[in-house]
Parts: sequence; structure tokens; C-alpha cells
Amino acid sequence: MSTEGTTTPRPLSVQRDLPVFKQIEGHHAPTPFFLTTDMLGGLPVELAGAEISNLVDKPVAAPHTHEVPEIYLLLSPEPGGAEIEVRLDGETHTLEAPGALLIPAGSVHCFVTRRAIPGSYCLGLLLTGPGPGEGVRVPRPEPSA
Ligand code: ZN
Repeated sequence: MSTEGTTTPRPLSVQRDLPVFKQIEGHHAPTPFFLTTDMLGGLPVELAGAEISNLVDKPVAAPHTHEVPEIYLLLSPEPGGAEIEVRLDGETHTLEAPGALLIPAGSVHCFVTRRAIPGSYCLGLLLTGPGPGEGVRVPRPEPSA
């Protein structure tokens, strides 16, 4: 990468006082958000989630849907340090850390933590799209009759 020439310093964009709590339909308590579409000058994603080691066998949300795709991102200080059970359109899938699972737009989903060492996080990355509420459209197979 070239370092020649002069560059104008870009303004630093920082968000503090995180997380921001929002009430989400289907969730049993206000959800902690680390990114929302109105942060940092406007974002195409929202990121919500929490440390889950104290949430083993405790669902944080009833089955729910979003108009946009969501990615479950499961992180842990050690590989295999956390496992969640994801309910997706009536089927159950197991996700082990580190792992990511795509929730297609419009599908019914929720998760339960099955095990998690301290420092494990389950994050939901909502692909809200270029503007708030516009959404990234990911084709979703029609359910077969
Ligand atoms: Zn969701």
C-alpha cells in the first residue's frame, strides 16, 4: 500500500455508551444492541446480543421473524466453548463456537444456549440494508407443498 502524498484526516466516528437497549417483539426483555442503523452516521446492519454463560437453557426470545436476514454469530474464548440450539422454521440445528448461521428473511427462529463458558457471546447481526428499514433482500426458497 502506498503511503505517498498527503491524506486528509478523516473524522473519527465512535459510538460510546453501549449497549443501547431496545424492546424487540418476541423478546422477553429489552435487547442489548451494539450497533443500530442510526449509529456512526448510518449503518446497513444492526448488531444485538449478549454474554450467554448465565443463559444456559434460558431462551431470551420466543420464536419470531424479521423482514431482513439475520446472522447468528456465536463466539467463545475457546473453540467449542459454547453451543446453542437454533430453531429455524420448525427444525432444530446445533451451532458450536466459533460459528455463524444464516437466518433467512421471514423465517421463524429463536435459540437456546445449551452450554457456554464465561466470555461467550451470541450476537444477532441484522442485515437491514442500505437504509433503515429498507432491507437486504436474500431470495428465500418457496416452501414446497
Ligand atoms: Zn431474530
